[in-house]
Amino acid sequence: MSTTVENVVIIGTGCAGLTAAIYAARANLNPLVLEGPLPGGQLTTTSEVENFPGFPHGVDGFQLTQNMREQATRFGTRFEQAQVTAVDFTSLPRKLVLGDHTIFARTVIVATGASPRMTGIPGEKELYGGKGVTTCATCDGAFYRKMEVAVLGGGDSAAEEALFLTRFASKVYLVHRRDSLRASKIMADRATAHEKIQMVWDSVPVEVLGVKEGSVSGLKVKHVKTGALSVLPVKGVFIAIGHIPNTGPFAPPLQVDEGGYFKPQPGSQVQTNVPGVYVAGDCSDHVFRQAITAAGMGCQAAIEAERWLAEHGG
Ligand code: NAP
Repeated sequence: MSTTVENVVIIGTGCAGLTAAIYAARANLNPLVLEGPLPGGQLTTTSEVENFPGFPHGVDGFQLTQNMREQATRFGTRFEQAQVTAVDFTSLPRKLVLGDHTIFARTVIVATGASPRMTGIPGEKELYGGKGVTTCATCDGAFYRKMEVAVLGGGDSAAEEALFLTRFASKVYLVHRRDSLRASKIMADRATAHEKIQMVWDSVPVEVLGVKEGSVSGLKVKHVKTGALSVLPVKGVFIAIGHIPNTGPFAPPLQVDEGGYFKPQPGSQVQTNVPGVYVAGDCSDHVFRQAITAAGMGCQAAIEAERWLAEHGG
């Protein structure tokens, strides 16, 4: 029985994975892309992307990834819906276990992205998904027409979610644990100036109310300086407090830093501690985390993989 050995297996279909696929496919490497639980990655949960070069009037996040996918497919990329459950990188070719079957690859590009961080407060888990707690304003915002909602966080995501929600909600509370936003100035200015957004500074959420009723009936928050508790009368809670990298079965053997992100070798943004295995995008970038930087890393990883194959026999 002959076993197929892939030239390049790319894990993830966000900006990083799809850009790697475009480059690897155009280099005639016939890449195989493994598509996980969120096809298209985080961009598909964002509304308008205003800062991706080449789109002077903005572009819908979902459409942008669809375009990348179409471009990758045009040059011969193959897609398979599968999740990697285990890896063996001790020998060549590299071994990837996909639940009930195993595939082999000369080079691997891990572009698994990051998942939303949750608060862990009572009520969050019980009321998540269709019951009022969500991590995606683009997906769920329209359900909150003329209602009051809260957004948690102080970064660009929180500001963006809050602004998006003003299209539907009667009022948006932006709950942040400090008294200034981490978001870029333009986004912070837009959010703080918006008449429908009320800033709730120096406050942390302590409980999502409504578990008994089966839907959110309020959010209890605590002022961090005074300790005072209050309840925001909201029907929706949108969590936007950052992300956790999806390193799953890859770490170990791949090294990670103290924040849990894949750690590239010194002098490279994409080369891991395993030769011929690369990382790209939000799973290894806790500094920039932009669609364009993820795409850039995907490009680098594919070019590195191509060079590695040329040197080691592809
Ligand atoms: P982020 O920049 O890491 O911000 C996370 C926010 O959540 C921070 O304000 C943080 O507070 C707060 N936070 C973290 N853990 C918390 C907890 N347990 N309880 C309460 N608050 C908590 O994450 P992000 O907003 O998702 O942005 C990630 C990256 O994507 C950034 O580089 C951002 O610029 C980029 N991004 C860009 C755009 C855009 O350009 N349109 C849109 C979205 C995201 P502290 O400030 O006190 O740490």
